[in-house]
Amino acid sequence: MFRHKITLFKLFGFSVSIDASWVIILFLVVWLLAKELFPNYFPELTNLTYWLMGLAGAIGLFVSIIIHEFSHSLVARKYGLEIRGITLFIFGGVAEMKGEPSSPKAEFFMAIAGPIASLLLSILFGILYQIGDILEWPVPAMGILGYLSGINMLLVLFNMVPAFPTDGGRILRSVLWWIKGDIYWATRLASRISLMFAMAIMFIGFINLLGGNFIGGLWWILIGYFIFNAAGASYQHLLMERSFGEKTVRYFMNPNPVTVPSYITLQEFVDKYVYHYHYKMFPVVDGSRVVGVITTQAVKTVPHEEWHHLQVGGLMQPQSPDNSVAPDTPVKEALSKMSISGLSRLLVLEHGKMVGIVTLKDLLEFLALKMELEA
Ligand SMILES: [Zn+2]
Repeated sequence: MFRHKITLFKLFGFSVSIDASWVIILFLVVWLLAKELFPNYFPELTNLTYWLMGLAGAIGLFVSIIIHEFSHSLVARKYGLEIRGITLFIFGGVAEMKGEPSSPKAEFFMAIAGPIASLLLSILFGILYQIGDILEWPVPAMGILGYLSGINMLLVLFNMVPAFPTDGGRILRSVLWWIKGDIYWATRLASRISLMFAMAIMFIGFINLLGGNFIGGLWWILIGYFIFNAAGASYQHLLMERSFGEKTVRYFMNPNPVTVPSYITLQEFVDKYVYHYHYKMFPVVDGSRVVGVITTQAVKTVPHEEWHHLQVGGLMQPQSPDNSVAPDTPVKEALSKMSISGLSRLLVLEHGKMVGIVTLKDLLEFLALKMELEA
């Protein structure tokens, strides 16, 4: 998920990383503070002072977000959940959890720990600001304190919106989960509420756009779109986690798939295999060796007249890491390979030999059964 991340340091056993996007955000924050916010509120200072204030403000924001994520992580650990690390990315921070919380109580306290930390930070900076006001601290220090108090309050408000993947979305789910004792139902309902929120946010964006507020409108649409995507994804993610767990491809594969010899024509392939078995992909075998895969998608690209003289071997895709997996691959990985490649069937290879085939259809049927019996 976070491919371009840079690990910064380790604290309490958690490694803290930044996503590459954060470097851009950092520049943007410094620039906005130095060029817009601080000059607006404190007009009498020098250019250099504004830049230094901007840098201090950005570092303060950075530390605040880390404290927010640490609060989540420490509570998660208290409830026995493993945290892989903390990554700061474009929309703030993320504590990468392994697995899902085991009870509504665990999820509730884990989710609310972050906003509570941000609220306390906002109050702390606010108190310092008041003290500074009385003791007449220098203007740049006051500006930074005021900004940090405000931005932490903004973090609380943004994170309390009851829409996945914010903390508010998790709090909402934990409460629903607690009410009915059914995590599937709770997640489904919380996802729906999130999607409604996301659409409302995008709608506000469009209204703003129509009203001529271009930047503001785009910003709302972007946030709405982000929530919309994430809300759908987190529901699917939960289903996968719960249903497949650590199961591997070996558990689901068909060890005796229908194979096609490479020398038959496309016409024979369509008549005898595609129309007979209704599969979209077949392993192509020469003797006992698998040499590639043939898909209906590939056949579609060839004009009908040529089906009589073209052979399967001429059209197949050679066997490659894109269309095959090892039997010990976790199902979740196989699924993501399917979604990246668009293939609904993958070859299962062990030491270069085909030992079976795994299909999206079988995995989805398992998922449907599991939900029917356990939801
Ligand atoms: Zn949070």
